[in-house]
Amino acid sequence: MLSHGNVITVSRGELLPANTEVLDGVDDLVELSYLNAPSVLHNLQYRYNHDIIYSKAGPVLLAFNPFKDVNIYGNDFFTAYKDKILDNPQVYAVADGAYNDMMKDGENQSIIISGESGSGKTKTAKFAMQYLASVGSQNCEMKSKLIQTSCILEAFGNAKTSRNCNSSRFGKLIDIHYNAEGTISSACIQTYLLEKSRVSQLCRGERSYHVFYQICAGAPPALKDMLNLKMSSEYKFLKQSGCLKINGVEDAHNFKVLVDAFDTLGISHQDQENVFHLLAAVLWLGNISFAVIDQEEHVELVADEASRTAARLMGCKIDDLKVVLSTNRIHNTAEPLKMQQATDKRDALATFVYESLFNWLMEEVNTSLKGDEQHTRHTISILDTYGFESLQEYELEGIHWKKVEFEDNQECLDIFEKKPMGLISILNEDSNSSKATNETFTENIKRHLSYNICFSCEKGAFRVRHYAQEVQYDASEMLEQNSDKLQFDTIQLLSSCKKPLNHSASGLMNQVQTTGQSVGAKFMDHLFKLIQEMENSKQHFIRCVKPNTKKLPGIYENDIVWEQLKCSQVMEIVQITKSRYPLRFTHQEFASRFGCILSKNISCMDPLSTSVAILQQHQIPPQIYQVGFTKLFFRGQVDVLENLRQEVL
Ligand code: ADP
Ligand code: MG
Repeated sequence: MLSHGNVITVSRGELLPANTEVLDGVDDLVELSYLNAPSVLHNLQYRYNHDIIYSKAGPVLLAFNPFKDVNIYGNDFFTAYKDKILDNPQVYAVADGAYNDMMKDGENQSIIISGESGSGKTKTAKFAMQYLASVGSQNCEMKSKLIQTSCILEAFGNAKTSRNCNSSRFGKLIDIHYNAEGTISSACIQTYLLEKSRVSQLCRGERSYHVFYQICAGAPPALKDMLNLKMSSEYKFLKQSGCLKINGVEDAHNFKVLVDAFDTLGISHQDQENVFHLLAAVLWLGNISFAVIDQEEHVELVADEASRTAARLMGCKIDDLKVVLSTNRIHNTAEPLKMQQATDKRDALATFVYESLFNWLMEEVNTSLKGDEQHTRHTISILDTYGFESLQEYELEGIHWKKVEFEDNQECLDIFEKKPMGLISILNEDSNSSKATNETFTENIKRHLSYNICFSCEKGAFRVRHYAQEVQYDASEMLEQNSDKLQFDTIQLLSSCKKPLNHSASGLMNQVQTTGQSVGAKFMDHLFKLIQEMENSKQHFIRCVKPNTKKLPGIYENDIVWEQLKCSQVMEIVQITKSRYPLRFTHQEFASRFGCILSKNISCMDPLSTSVAILQQHQIPPQIYQVGFTKLFFRGQVDVLENLRQEVL
C-alpha cells in the first residue's frame, strides 16, 4: 500500500526494504539502516518538506535550495553555532568546523562548494563567508568590507540566465587569512573564467551583466549627462535578447547599493567615475555601425553619436578608433575589412574593455581587503565552482570527488607541465596557430595525453585526476580563454586610452613579449596551482542540490534530485562511511599518530600524503582500507601499525 492509500501489486524481487519510521528524517544518511535509492530520497524529501534544507551524507554537507527565505541565518544563528547550542547540519556548522580545525590543528582549510547552476552555490558561499567574517572579526571595518564585496562581484559578474536569475558567470575563490589569535588579518578574492562572450552576445530571454542595467536605470542625472547615457533599451548589446528586466529586481535601487559598496571599500570617486565611463563605453561600442564603401564590400566605421561617444569615454581619438575598427594592419599597410570582420573586431574590443574593467576592479577590491598580512598564520578558502555547466544537462560541474586510487602525483603533474607535450605547452601552441579549433585542440590533447592514467576525455571535456579529486575542464572554454583575439593595433589603441585600459593593454604586450605565455596558459597555470593549494589544506565539501527545475519552493522532484546525488556519488560516499570501513581516522589524526614509523621526512608533506606514504611503506594490503578526501577508512584493525609504533616510542 502506498502512503496515499492506493494499493498496487508488485513481485517480491522488486521490493526494497524500507527504514522504520523512527528513522524518518535523520540528520545523516549514514544513520539509515537500509541504504537504497528510495530510502535516501524519502529521507531527504521528508526533511525538505519540513524546511530542513541541510543534511549530511557522511563527510559531505548536502544543501537543498529552498527557493524561498528560510529563517535560519543571521546573528542569532552565528552565536548558536559558535557556542554549539545548535549542531545540526548547516552551512554555519561547516564553516565553524573549518574555523575550529584551523585553530586546533594549525592547518589551512578549504570549503569546496559544488552543484549545478542554480543549486545555491553562491548563496552558500556567501553564508559561509558571512559566518567566517563574523566569528573571526573584532575588526568591524574588515567585516563590512568583506561582506560588501559580494555586491560588487554580483553586479559585474552575475547575470540572468535561463536557469538562474542571478547566475554567477565566473568562478571564485575567497581566501580569508587569520592571525594566531584567530582574528581576520586580511582577505583576497581570486576570480576565474569570466564568461566574456556575454558582453556582446546573449541568448533569448537572458541578460548581460547586472551592472549595465543598474547604471542605465540608476545613474543620477549629472552622471547620465556626462556619459551620454540612455535607457537600456537603446543599446544593441542589451536589447538583442528581448529581456531587459527581471521580476522583483530593482535595478535603479541596486545601483545605489553598488555605489555604497564602492564607498565602503574605499574606491575613490575618481576611480568610480572611470568605471562608469568604461561601462558606458562598452554599451556605446555595441551601437557602432559600419557602412559599405566599395564594390568589394569593404566597410568603414560610421562617425555618429555611438562612435564619437565611445571614443570620448575610452579616452581615444575617433579617427584612431575608426582606423582600428575598419582595417587590419598588416606589415604597415592598412587592409580594409568586410562587415563581419569589422563587427567581430568591434565586439572583441568591447569585450576586452569589460574584461579589463572587471580585472582591475578585482585588484581594487583586493587592495582594500589587504590588512595586516604580516601576521597571517592560516587561511580558510571558500571555492564557489563555475564553468562546466554547459556540457550536458546533468553533467557535474566543477570539482568532482571519487575514491582515490593511489598513484604518484607526478602523473598528474605531467599532464600539465610535461614538455614538450603537456597541456600547457599544447595550449600555447594551439592558441598561436590560426588553424586551431576546439576540435583540433581536443584531438591534440587526447593524442598526447591519453596514455596518462590521470587523464580521461569525452566530447569537449576532459578530466584530470588530481590527488584527491577529479576535476573536469571544458576544452572549448579553455581555447576561448586562450585565444588572444585582440590584434596588435587594437592593443596599441588601448594603450593610449585612459586607466585601466592602458594598464591592461601594456600588461598584455609585456606578457606576450617577455614570457611568451598566452593568456589561457597563464590561466591554466593559475588554476592548477590553486587546486594544488587546496589539496594541501583540509577540505570540507558542500554539495548543493536543486530540488526542482521550476525554481519554485515546496516542489521536490525525485528524478531530478536522484540525478544530482548520482553525479556526486553520494550513495558511494555514504556507503563507505557507513559500514565497510568501520574504523576511521582523519588524515591529520592518522599522520600524527603513525608519522613516527615513516622513514621519510614528513615535515613538508600534507596529512593525506603522509597517510598514504605510511600505508605504502608498511605494505598494508589495499583491500583493508579506503582513502577518502578527509579520512582514512579501515576494514580491519591496524595492529601492525600499532605494534610498530610501540616499538619506536
Ligand atoms: P548557483 O550559484 O549554484 O548558480 P545561486 O547561489 O545563485 O546558485 O542560487 C540561485 C537562487 O536560489 C538564489 O538567487 C536564491 O533565490 C535561491 N537560493 C539558493 N540558496 C538559497 C538559500 N539557502 N536560501 C534562500 N534562497 C536560496
Ligand atoms: Mg553561482
